[in-house]
Amino acid sequence: MVPTNSAVAANLEYIRARIEAARASAVAPAPETHLIAVSKTHPVEAIVEALEASHRLFGESKVQEALAKWPVLREQYPDAELHMIGALQTNKAKEAVGLFDAFHSVDRVKLARAIAAEGEKQGRNPKIFVQVNIGEEPQKSGVAPRETLALVEEVRALGLNLVGLMCVPPFDVAPAPYFGLLKKLGRDAGLPLLSMGMSDDFEIAIAFGATHVRVGTAIFGARDYGAKA
Ligand SMILES: *Cc1c(COP(=O)(O)O)cnc(C)c1O
Repeated sequence: MVPTNSAVAANLEYIRARIEAARASAVAPAPETHLIAVSKTHPVEAIVEALEASHRLFGESKVQEALAKWPVLREQYPDAELHMIGALQTNKAKEAVGLFDAFHSVDRVKLARAIAAEGEKQGRNPKIFVQVNIGEEPQKSGVAPRETLALVEEVRALGLNLVGLMCVPPFDVAPAPYFGLLKKLGRDAGLPLLSMGMSDDFEIAIAFGATHVRVGTAIFGARDYGAKA
């Protein structure tokens, strides 16, 4: 049984309220801000708590883990929407396109081509966000800011359903300038959606026009990478 007053349900309610408050005080919020509940590393039971609390939009960052958790959940909750937010290898494109409704981490044309080819085969047309390495950090994935517009054009030419840009700003520095830069790049590229903001900074991202915030820890609690593959 799922308790109706579960911790996950309470956390969701609290985050939704904070999103509304941030939108209310933002000078130029996006027309809508969607909450992606990032359930990576968390078990099916925690996800069911969120689904039972009427949440429908989720993010996972590993194909194998998502395949282990989501096919049965999708049967039980057919209106759930699942977004891939983690790095994707082209050799996983087939399984990934079969499972995910959107990809936030497209950062090279080879990956875009693999998704386009699989989408055609499977009759699926997932939403695509181009990931920008907004702080130009060597260890992070994403296309460099100055190369973003060129990649956007290449992805568009493939006929993919390209909707926006995504970023993860550098850790432990003020994220506002990076959110501002992603907003500018999105405007220059003519892309309406911005996937930015996590547990620690989603309110700032909303002030810069985030349309999708990706929140894990503040909903599901801390991740234990040791306990689960
Ligand atoms: C894990 C993850 C998140 C969620 O991070 P929290 O700090 O737990 O909210 C958001 N975006 C990406 C790309 C992630 O990998």
